[in-house]
Amino acid sequence: MSYARVLCVGLVGVEGHLVEVEADLAPGLPGVVISGLPDTALHEARDRVRAAVVNSGQRWPNRRITLNLLPATLPKFGSTFDLAIAVALLGGSGELPLLPLDGVAILGELGLDGAVRPVRGVLPMVAAAARAGIDRVIVPVGNAAEAAVVPGLRVRGVDSLHRLVCFVRDGRPLIEPPVDDAPEAVTGPDLADVAGQGLGRRALEVAAAGGHHLALIGPPGAGKTMLAERLPSILPTLDDAAALEVTALHSVAGLLPAGGRLIRRPPFQAPHHTATVPSIVGGGAGLARPGAISLAHRGVLFLDEAPEFSKPALEALRQPLEHGRVLLTRSRGGAEYPARAQLVLAANPCPCANPAGDDRCECAPAARRRYLARLSGPLLDRIDLQVRLQPMRAAELMEPAAHESSAVVAVRVAAAREAAAERWAALGRRLNSEIPGPNLRRAPWRLPNPVTADLRARLDSGSLSARGFDRVIRLAWTIADLDGRTQPDKKDIAEAITLRTGEGT
Ligand SMILES: [Zn+2]
Repeated sequence: MSYARVLCVGLVGVEGHLVEVEADLAPGLPGVVISGLPDTALHEARDRVRAAVVNSGQRWPNRRITLNLLPATLPKFGSTFDLAIAVALLGGSGELPLLPLDGVAILGELGLDGAVRPVRGVLPMVAAAARAGIDRVIVPVGNAAEAAVVPGLRVRGVDSLHRLVCFVRDGRPLIEPPVDDAPEAVTGPDLADVAGQGLGRRALEVAAAGGHHLALIGPPGAGKTMLAERLPSILPTLDDAAALEVTALHSVAGLLPAGGRLIRRPPFQAPHHTATVPSIVGGGAGLARPGAISLAHRGVLFLDEAPEFSKPALEALRQPLEHGRVLLTRSRGGAEYPARAQLVLAANPCPCANPAGDDRCECAPAARRRYLARLSGPLLDRIDLQVRLQPMRAAELMEPAAHESSAVVAVRVAAAREAAAERWAALGRRLNSEIPGPNLRRAPWRLPNPVTADLRARLDSGSLSARGFDRVIRLAWTIADLDGRTQPDKKDIAEAITLRTGEGT
């Protein structure tokens, strides 16, 4: 027999696709030809595979070898195909009977010594294999726990090509994925450690309940970072579908913690203000790495000292925030990553960042305006909640920590989200922050005139924009949901105005 076929999986963005690796060995001048749209890494695969085969004690066939990766139209990146190529080659040369590998998808990178190394994106790859009806996969031992997360799959790990050869030839065992049944540790900071900051805590709770983007503006020491870091702790646990999406993105980035379990808590990403555009939205050679906005998918993206970020970096966030996904245009085929994150910005009120706040600031009024204006166009427009925080006072700091814990607040947040989801189900939406302005202003959700009187007066006098008007209404719905009422009243509108503009604090 001089032909063999082995199953593997390729990745485009976060989508896996079954790939068939064909090997044909013919008499003629010895050499290897790879076809099927391979990238440079695949050409390097030829040299890696040859060394790995020889160093695993197998005979390298001195024949004319043609390798073909199907479908040809699918862009293929990286080193995931190494192991499948080696197996197809040994099968084609008659060295290895491939019957035990029939219907098995094989993933893994080979080292020159024949060791099998972990690859990025195993979770979405084996999930795709399962969807395509494959029920057995062989993966690098370092990725076995991650692959075992996908239900209905028999997963086995390999640490070397030699082990796989022994399995096929002599039925020697492969490595079983580790069983991890320890309860998930609840980690991360808790709201109970935040002293004072009544307005900030309230803003955080409203942001969590309505899915509103949030800007925290205040001097250093006002607790902006402390608050932002605690937003995930009051958000609901991810459901199965969301957990799989989030875990897949972290898998593609190669950032999945060992132990291999689904990420169940909303992620938190805080890129530094010197972050480049690719590190924020994704990019890089070969299989594109998801950026911070995608790693924060279904969680929180925190930009501390937001005005210090480069203009292109802030600009690059506009599209993902609008559409909930990032489209990376690449030389060969684009990659798309989900990017539905809740944005939290923190900013000092002015460039001098004087901890005492306004009273000792020497910045000219124009400089202060320019500083926050850096955020205006692309981002502030999309942010419902803009809160001005004051420096913490000694009395607040000394107060015994009798504050609600994240768990207590999370219960109210979950109830409010449920009420909103039920109300907006007819529109196919779940969160107050997602409701288009026209729906808020029309029956059956239009608020009675007496409730919005103050708001309409502000609109008429020009102190509030039409967009600002809609944002206040959205926040008012969230405030009413948190309070367990079916419709916002005048008081809710007044609080929403405070949270929107910082007035009245
Ligand atoms: Zn200043």
